[in-house]
Amino acid sequence: MHFGQGDFSHRIEIAPRNELGKLVATFNSMADKLEDIATRDGLTNLLNKKAIMQTLDSELVRARRHNSTLSLMMLDLDYFKRINDTYGHQAGDAVLVTTTGLIEKYVRGIDYVGRYGGEEIIIVLPDTSETESVEIAERIRRSLASTPIVVSESEFVNVTVSIGISIFPRDGIEQDVLLNNADQAMYYAKDAGRNQVVRYRDVIQ
Ligand code: GH3
Ligand code: MG
Ligand code: MG
Repeated sequence: MHFGQGDFSHRIEIAPRNELGKLVATFNSMADKLEDIATRDGLTNLLNKKAIMQTLDSELVRARRHNSTLSLMMLDLDYFKRINDTYGHQAGDAVLVTTTGLIEKYVRGIDYVGRYGGEEIIIVLPDTSETESVEIAERIRRSLASTPIVVSESEFVNVTVSIGISIFPRDGIEQDVLLNNADQAMYYAKDAGRNQVVRYRDVIQ
């Protein structure tokens, strides 16, 4: 029933030591794979757009209930088209995988990272103040800017990232507003020269 309704997180809990038990184990491992396919992006293995949006929605419900602060980060790689144009789309894909792997290293276990679009990434940081999220964003920005990524046998590129941050509840209560405001902050970072972190608060002041 759960599967029929699209809930791939359900698992069967009975585990008799007979053939039915084996069938249950097989079913559950199949469920793991299906859940992965349904929620992960095929290239980067980050949460896909649908999954990160659902996560943001449920974390906002939790934040409202507990009166807690949530931070939302919108990241867009700088001048990524140039990498494709110079080294080819496949090299671009490989750079994207390495970059997102680095980004994941700098977030905490409680954070969620998702691929929002082509080379746009969203990070949901539950129970996180603006000061903390700016620190994390700066760590991501610095580490990317200072890590050369291999693109061919003898060539490396430095990928930089522009990051916009909005904070629940101060910068918005609703999901759309928070997304829109993080996006605006990210574009502000682009306009200001890229390779930087901008808070929505900075945009409106
Ligand atoms: P900027 O964001 O700094 O303004 O410049 P940009 O060149 O990164 O421009 P924009 O964000 O508008 O374009 C994103 C480019 O990223 C378009 C496309 O060439 C590339 N891109 C998006 N998704 C993928 C992907 O999955 N693989 C590869 N190889 N390239 C991608
Ligand atoms: Mg870009
Ligand atoms: Mg983009």
